Amino acid sequence: MRILPSIVLLWACISAAATVLPERDSKINIADFQPKDIISRDVCIIGGGASGTYAAIRLQDLGKSVVLLERKPKLGGHTETYTDPANGAMTETGLVAWYDSDLVKNFFERLNVPLTTTSFVSSGVTTLPVDFRTGKVVANVFSGNASEGLTNYVTQYQKYTYLEDGFNLTYPVPADLLLPFGDYIKKYNLAGAVPTLYIFANGIGEFLKQTTLYALKLVNLATVLNLEAGSFQTTLRHDNSALYESAASVLSSNVLLSSNVIAVDRSGECVKLLIATSEGLKCIIAKKILLSIPPLVENLGFLDLDATEKALFGQFSSAGYYVAILNNTGIPDNIEVRNFGADTPYSVPVLPGPYFIQPSGIPGLFSVKYASQTPMPDEVVKADIVSAVLKLRSAGSLNTTTPGFVFYSTHTPFELTVPIDAIEGGFYRNLYALQGLKNTFWTGAAWHAQDSSKLWAFTEKLLGEIIAGL
Ligand SMILES: Cc1cc2nc3c(=O)[nH]c(=O)nc-3n(C[C@H](O)[C@H](O)[C@H](O)COP(=O)(O)OP(=O)(O)OC[C@H]3O[C@@H](n4cnc5c(N)ncnc54)[C@H](O)[C@@H]3O)c2cc1C
Repeated sequence: MRILPSIVLLWACISAAATVLPERDSKINIADFQPKDIISRDVCIIGGGASGTYAAIRLQDLGKSVVLLERKPKLGGHTETYTDPANGAMTETGLVAWYDSDLVKNFFERLNVPLTTTSFVSSGVTTLPVDFRTGKVVANVFSGNASEGLTNYVTQYQKYTYLEDGFNLTYPVPADLLLPFGDYIKKYNLAGAVPTLYIFANGIGEFLKQTTLYALKLVNLATVLNLEAGSFQTTLRHDNSALYESAASVLSSNVLLSSNVIAVDRSGECVKLLIATSEGLKCIIAKKILLSIPPLVENLGFLDLDATEKALFGQFSSAGYYVAILNNTGIPDNIEVRNFGADTPYSVPVLPGPYFIQPSGIPGLFSVKYASQTPMPDEVVKADIVSAVLKLRSAGSLNTTTPGFVFYSTHTPFELTVPIDAIEGGFYRNLYALQGLKNTFWTGAAWHAQDSSKLWAFTEKLLGEIIAGL
């Protein structure tokens, strides 16, 4: 009889964990679990957002057994579609669009979700430029030569095409990549591109002070090229969450929603995880794990981090990014109020504050995106959003009323960055060297970019390494 190598390894894992590990040293003792509560898989994926869901579907399609753990009651991460309970109308509060690429199209086709192109333009909407510090209309909003600025941006970007695939930096890191982005804009005559770049760099914190590397990673070459070609893709039915609902259905019992990882033990041949699910505690035994959640030390309390991991992840800091849907604003349905600095370079708005308050596409409901340099408490963000709406009235800009929140969500932590000296010192080289150690792989925005299409491509490349030896 031929016994499959994977079964041999799994058996070895179970017996090693059950017999060799001294009980007092392991947080997870398999002997404590009934067989129905032990889940054995090739790969356990933690985090059911863009990267984790992609990995789970692809690995399953490649014939590997998977389990995907998501702490929220649904998959999708930053993809959140708001449905009006009154009439079923939908609007995207998070992710809007993907690139026109074979990889994107194949993934949507696999999950039977049709795509269409989007121009991002809402017809019949007029922009009111306002400085949300005062609520006053900004008379002379900066506008430069967009075409010249974007051409210069692309020309400069061509020097760093390796950034398109990850943080595959060259060393010494080019000094330009370490400049504050405001200095880089001046140096390469990119002023005309700022209004466009700014929109795509939402969530990056202070745009002009941010390290150029991160600005380039967020507004990458593909963004500009898809914009110029008008080829960005969105869901035909205007329901981006459908992708993740379909993925959940394909994964079926291999996805555990509303589940929390309590502890992970990577000391053995396989990885053991203790999970709290709606059906009680489960023990997962996996040959490999893939983490796709923001790798902040405080987010990884369940993991047996070693000193190197702690030292690396401890250098990350995050910006704050929040979204809301408001009713009762008093703002007409054809007016978008956009934040601009009355006295700042390129009229870049001052944060923390809303980027905009704009018609959601559902009559009477307005979509807000709000950002800060560092994370803020939700109650403070909400109070500031209400105050921003009311300032419009006190400044005589619009006859607004006190709004209500029909939806609010925090996307924080967002845009994980490290200091310049860490980048220079090889932070990303050291970060990437963690891949595969202790049967652990990593993906997600911190490892590449806040960009779903790019993250799927990054994750796809990683699959070969994950699968090797399974
Ligand atoms: C408002 C907004 C608009 C955006 N628009 C676009 C866009 O148009 N196009 C685009 O390409 N990108 C867009 N992005 C960026 C894009 O959404 C992100 O780059 C992408 O979602 C990141 O994927 P990820 O897998 O790293 O993380 P996420 O999608 O955030 O997934 C992480 C998941 O892990 C879960 N999780 C966290 N901790 C745990 C834990 N301990 N256990 C289990 N699960 C856990 C989270 O709940 C989440 O579901 C937007 C982002 C925001 C906030």
